[in-house]
Formats: sequence, structure tokens, C-alpha cells
Amino acid sequence: MALPRYYTQQACGLARALEVVGERWTLLIVRDAFYGLRRFGEFTAHLEIPRAVLTERLNRLVEADVLARVPAAAGRSEYELTAKGRTLWPVVRSLMSWGDEHYAVAGPRRLFRHAADDGPLDERGICAVCGREIAIGDTVVVPGPGLGPPSDDDDAVSAALRDPHRMLEPLRD
Ligand SMILES: [Zn+2]
Repeated sequence: MALPRYYTQQACGLARALEVVGERWTLLIVRDAFYGLRRFGEFTAHLEIPRAVLTERLNRLVEADVLARVPAAAGRSEYELTAKGRTLWPVVRSLMSWGDEHYAVAGPRRLFRHAADDGPLDERGICAVCGREIAIGDTVVVPGPGLGPPSDDDDAVSAALRDPHRMLEPLRD
């Protein structure tokens, strides 16, 4: 059964947040935007999400000022996280860490490191080398033990993310 779109009687901030990011796929789209995905085709390739659903979710995220639709080459549009959207990073990181801790039998698929000193980040984004909390733009995503070996079936995004990649930077070029 689908969740009701609006929790009208709930003034709690969590209920408000779930109105924006609580639908199936939405936080995965936001996560992928943190990885640097920007194009509609990149999201469909990586998430294997139905196009109509992706369109609906992207529109909702733009409406909520989490993503911005920006013009790109050849008259296309791309999507990038707004300043408001970027503040979801600690939420996404924490949920990912919780899922890894309880459900990732082979270990995390992806790990995060501090770009400046290559220090591993803990679930709060604290670098083990310098002890600081590292901003999203100074974070690098690297393959973790749970990722598994490369496959011919890997989509282009999955293949690109097998190399260390600075968060928020576009995957191509
Ligand atoms: Zn560091």
C-alpha cells in the first residue's frame, strides 16, 4: 500500500521531511546526486527506475528545492543539488551507515574518505586522520568490500564509481 502523500495532521518535522524524501526511490536519487549524477539517463541506468517514476520524483524534488533543473548542452536539462538539498548529506550518510551495519553481510558497497589526507570517514563524517568533520565537497567515495567484482552487466555509472570519485563532481569528463 502506498504511503499517503501528505501527513496532514502531523506537524512534526520528521513528517514534513518525509513528505519530501519519504517516497520509494527518492533518497536513492538524492544519494546518486551526491555521487555526481546529473542526467536523467544516468539515474535510469544506475537505479533501473521506471522513467515515469523518475520523472515524478525529480519534479517533486525540484518543487521542494532539493534539486535544481539546470540547462545543459544540446537543449537538455540536468539536475543538481541545491544548497538546501546538500544539507541532506548527513541524513543520507547516516541511513546508509545504519543499513550497512545491520544488513550488509559482505560489508559496505561504498566507503568515504577525506580528499586531503585520504583518511577514512566514520558514520558521522569524522576523518580518522585529521579528526575533523569533512564537508561533502571534500569527500571522496571509494568502492567498499561489499561491492563485488566488476561485471559486463555493469551500467556506465556503476563502472565509473569503481574508481575513487569526489562527491558532487560530475561523473564524466
Ligand atoms: Zn582528514
